[in-house]
Amino acid sequence: MSEPTLCRAPVVIVGGGFGGLYTALALSTIHDHPPILLIEPKERFIFFPLAYELLSGELQTWEVAPKYNKLFTGRRIGWLRDTVATIDIKSKTITTVLGQSQKFGQLVIATGTRLETFNIPGVREYAMTFHSLRDIERLQQLLKFVREHPDKNRRIAVVGAGPTGVELACKLADLAEGAIEIDLIERSNQLLNSSRAFNREEAQIALSKRDVRMRMETKVLKVRSDTIIMSGPDAIEEILPITKVVWTAGLLSSLPIISPNPPIDKYGCLECSEELQLSQSESIFVMGDISSVATSKQFPLPKTAQVAFQQAELVCANLIAQRKRLPLEAFHWNDLGEMISLGIGNASLVGAGLTLAGPSAFQIRRLAYLTRLPGLSHQLRVATSWMLSESY
Ligand SMILES: Cc1cc2nc3c(=O)[nH]c(=O)nc-3n(C[C@H](O)[C@H](O)[C@H](O)COP(=O)(O)OP(=O)(O)OC[C@H]3O[C@@H](n4cnc5c(N)ncnc54)[C@H](O)[C@@H]3O)c2cc1C
Repeated sequence: MSEPTLCRAPVVIVGGGFGGLYTALALSTIHDHPPILLIEPKERFIFFPLAYELLSGELQTWEVAPKYNKLFTGRRIGWLRDTVATIDIKSKTITTVLGQSQKFGQLVIATGTRLETFNIPGVREYAMTFHSLRDIERLQQLLKFVREHPDKNRRIAVVGAGPTGVELACKLADLAEGAIEIDLIERSNQLLNSSRAFNREEAQIALSKRDVRMRMETKVLKVRSDTIIMSGPDAIEEILPITKVVWTAGLLSSLPIISPNPPIDKYGCLECSEELQLSQSESIFVMGDISSVATSKQFPLPKTAQVAFQQAELVCANLIAQRKRLPLEAFHWNDLGEMISLGIGNASLVGAGLTLAGPSAFQIRRLAYLTRLPGLSHQLRVATSWMLSESY
C-alpha cells in the first residue's frame, strides 16, 4: 500500500455476522491494532447454527444471540448501529441509511444474504423466513397457538430441503407434539443435496419418524395467505391448504450500492481474489456468503458459517499484513465436516474422524459450537450456564 495515512485510517467493517463480527474480534486482539468501526443495524449477533435450539427453548436468547455491546465490552471496537447504503470506492467513503458519512483506510464487506423469492407470487407477502429473532418469536407464537388449539387440518409447509429446511422441519415436528401436519417441499429429487450421505440418511430417518411429509421434485408456483399451489413430479398442480409457509429455499446476496459497479457472479456475489480482495481496490476485502473466489480450486465455496469463520482469520491477518506492506495470503478452506440437528436432543455429524448420530452427536455438536461462540468471555458465560443447567 502506498497511502502514508493508512496507519491511522480506520478499518471499517460492514455487517456484523459470522464474517464481520469475527474479523472485528480477531483484529481487536492484536497489539496496537488500527481503529475498528463495525457497522451493523441489528442489536444482537445470531449464532445461526444454534437457532433451532433457541426456537425450542433448549437454549436461551442471550446464549445464541448475544448483544453487540456486551461482546465489545473491554475491547476497542466502535459500533455504529446503522445500515450502509453506498460505498464509493474512489473516495473511500461509505454513507449510511441514517445519513452518516465515513472515510475508511481499509474496508471489509460482509453483508450476508437476504430472501430470494425467485419471483414466485405471494412468497414475499405471505411466507416467513427463518433468518431473524423476529422469525423465531413468530414461530414460537404459532406453535403455542397450535398446541393450545390442536386441529389435524392445520399444516406448516417448509419450502427447501437444504440443512435449514430439514433441521427446522424436525424441530417443528417435535415442538408441535402432533398438533399440526408438516410438509417439506423440495424442487430437486433429494433432500440435503450437498450434504454427506450419512447425514442425508439420518435426516431421512428422523423426518420419517416424525411423520414429516416429504414432497420431492415439487415446485412451488404460488403462495397465498391460506394455500400453497405446487406442481409435483407428475406436473399436476395441487392446492394445499396451509397455516403458514416457511421459506428456506433461496438466499440472494445482500449488498449496498457500490460505485463504480464491482464484478459480480451469476448469484450476485462479489468476485474477489484468493486473498479476498475486490479486484477494483486492494484495500477492500469481501467475505462470507457474498464473496465469490472464482479462481480458487475449491470454487464454489459453500455458503456456511464455517467458511466465513475461517475467512475472518485470514482477512484479519491480511488487513494487518497490508498495513505492514507484507505479502498477503490466499484463502484455503479447511473442511471440518458437517453437523446437523435432527429434532430435540438429536443430531447427526460427520467430521474429525467421527460419523455419529443420536443424543451423543447432539452433545458433541453443542460442545463444538460452544468453542465457536464469539469471544472467550461469552463462551465462558455460556459454558457456566450449561454446567449449572440440569438439562445439560
Ligand atoms: C437458520 C440458519 C442456520 C444455519 N446453520 C448453519 C450451520 O449449522 N453451519 C454453518 O456452517 N452455517 C450455517 N448457516 C449459514 C451461516 O449462518 C452463513 O453462511 C453465515 O452467517 C454467513 O456469514 P456472513 O458474515 O457472510 O453473513 P451473515 O452472518 O448473514 O451476516 C451479515 C450481517 O450483515 C448485516 N448487514 C446486511 N446488510 C448490511 C448493510 N448494508 N449495512 C450494514 N450491515 C448489513 C446483517 O444485518 C447481518 O448481521 C445457517 C444459516 C441460517 C439462516
